[in-house]
Amino acid sequence: MSECLFCKIARKEIPAALVYEDDSLLAFKDIAPQAPVHLLIIPKAHCEGLADMTPEIAAAVGGLPRVAARLAQEQGVAASGWRLLSNCGPDSGQSVYHLHFHLLGGKPLGGRLCL
Ligand code: AMP
Repeated sequence: MSECLFCKIARKEIPAALVYEDDSLLAFKDIAPQAPVHLLIIPKAHCEGLADMTPEIAAAVGGLPRVAARLAQEQGVAASGWRLLSNCGPDSGQSVYHLHFHLLGGKPLGGRLCL
């Protein structure tokens, strides 16, 4: 997926503010943050979204909530609270078709999950 934006970030071909990396996952700051803490956590391997995970990517994503919890701690929002979500498909508002999870925190996020 040479033209995929997040694949290019994973390959370090375009810059991003990286906050975490291991063999299979990468996390970086969202370029247009919607909260004081807004990170994106991605599998390095390409898949379009939650509906397209290979077993290998699903295994990598299995460790993602623990990475998110660690990042929430490091970003100072573990106690105040945070949200982890992934958009899948047009109605969700997904705009980048490389699986990613938003980690949001640092302010009250509101009780509604959709409009
Ligand atoms: P989604 O709408 O769920 O597909 O989320 C895509 C997210 O990627 C948005 O929050 C964008 O602000 C973010 N984004 C787009 N381009 C970049 C980039 N180059 N670096 C970091 N975040 C980006």
